[in-house]
Amino acid sequence: MELVDKLNCTGCMACVSACPRQCIDIVKGKLGHLYPKIIGEQCIECGKCRRTCPEIVPLTFHSVSKSYAAWSMDKENHKSSASGGAAAEFYYQALHDDFWICGVEYREDFHVVHTLTDSMAAVSRFKQSKYVYSEMGTVYAEIEKLLKCNKKVLFISLPCKVAGLLGFLGKHYCNLLTVDIVCHGTPSHENLRNHIFSIDKENKASKLKFRMENEFLFDLSDAAGTDIYRRIGREDTYLAAFLEGLNYRDSCYYCSYAKPERVSDITICDFWGLGLELPFDHPYMGAVSAVLVNTEYGRSFVEKCKRRLFMEERPVWEAVKGNAQLKAPTEIHPKRKAFESLYKTHGFEVAVKRCLNEEMKKESRRLLKRRLRRMVRGVVGIFIKKYRR
Ligand SMILES: Cc1cc2nc3c(=O)[nH]c(=O)nc-3n(C[C@H](O)[C@H](O)[C@H](O)COP(=O)(O)OP(=O)(O)OC[C@H]3O[C@@H](n4cnc5c(N)ncnc54)[C@H](O)[C@@H]3O)c2cc1C
Ligand code: SF4
Ligand code: SF4
Ligand code: SF4
Repeated sequence: MELVDKLNCTGCMACVSACPRQCIDIVKGKLGHLYPKIIGEQCIECGKCRRTCPEIVPLTFHSVSKSYAAWSMDKENHKSSASGGAAAEFYYQALHDDFWICGVEYREDFHVVHTLTDSMAAVSRFKQSKYVYSEMGTVYAEIEKLLKCNKKVLFISLPCKVAGLLGFLGKHYCNLLTVDIVCHGTPSHENLRNHIFSIDKENKASKLKFRMENEFLFDLSDAAGTDIYRRIGREDTYLAAFLEGLNYRDSCYYCSYAKPERVSDITICDFWGLGLELPFDHPYMGAVSAVLVNTEYGRSFVEKCKRRLFMEERPVWEAVKGNAQLKAPTEIHPKRKAFESLYKTHGFEVAVKRCLNEEMKKESRRLLKRRLRRMVRGVVGIFIKKYRR
């Protein structure tokens, strides 16, 4: 039995969860990405893995019917989320309506794993983008069990993981609400681990944050919250590789979900193009999400969230135009091949620095200018205050 070509395998692991003989192993491929591998002798050739795979059996895609600029009106929630805080507001509403909720959280050694729960406490662990491959664990089967018992479930994840869930279930459930997060690609956990180890030799780090409002950062701290390391954007090797699209799994460069039509009931992303071509008159400077409504179930759920989520309707084209991954997959980086061979011989840090030397230097110059500007503004501010007195 052959699974889908490696170039198209998203690592959703729906096939692994579906196999009745549990004879699909998970193995490491290049750059540490994880792939399913059938153990030949145990396979009974039932074909369930292929019937489950969303890259072999195509799913239904929905056209976006409405688009909103949105952010949580709860300042604390907004600040602690990666973008506008829509995901957390969806979780709160769902828990209020007796749903079970699924999201991802950091586990031991910075593995990012999907978790199914009915507990409010989990929402704070689900918040924030984790820019790395997320593992499915056993949630597909757990979700199916709940749906069959008529429990409601809200599943928020990357589009290929939503597709994996839908492929695994193989039929429509009215009590399942899906939300996908627009995505430009994921590095492997191995890359993340290598990078953290290069910074934190004593293994003290226990918290990692990638976003603060519209800024990308790599912020590592220990259990007490003390900063161990903090770099902004491409100053950091891991973020440089991530933002430049150097180290994603192969399927990300051929992603079936990087288009305006969506597999989920609702889509959320950053609203990068907001106000560029049409006026947006709200005096607001923080991160703003785009909430795209793709089905009737999605529309009725989003309506309920308006009590806590500021939402202004915007034309769908505005959200699509500003967001590259609503149009096409990330292009393969011209230095990808060089990166792969350097990674093998010299490891992650050296490979990134050699391939993205120019980009990293440019970022350092940009940040230095910004820091100087801030310093000058601060000094001028002190003089003005003194002069006025
Ligand atoms: C790998 C990755 C790539 C992204 N690329 C883009 C992009 O190209 N363009 C864009 O507009 N937005 C992108 N985003 C989404 C963006 O960073 C915000 O997460 C999104 O706008 C939602 O923000 P929020 O404030 O509502 O929720 P957040 O606070 O970001 O809530 C996070 C939600 O995302 C889920 N989540 C976080 N990390 C992962 C993960 N690794 N796998 C599965 N689920 C995860 C959490 O479980 C939770 O449901 C990406 C996110 C990730 C994780
Ligand atoms: S064909 Fe059936 S037994 Fe063989 S790997 Fe696929 S699901 Fe498992
Ligand atoms: S089901 Fe998912 S993990 Fe399995 S072969 Fe298909 S894309 Fe790959
Ligand atoms: S880019 Fe596509 S294939 Fe890659 S992680 Fe994102 S949704 Fe999945």
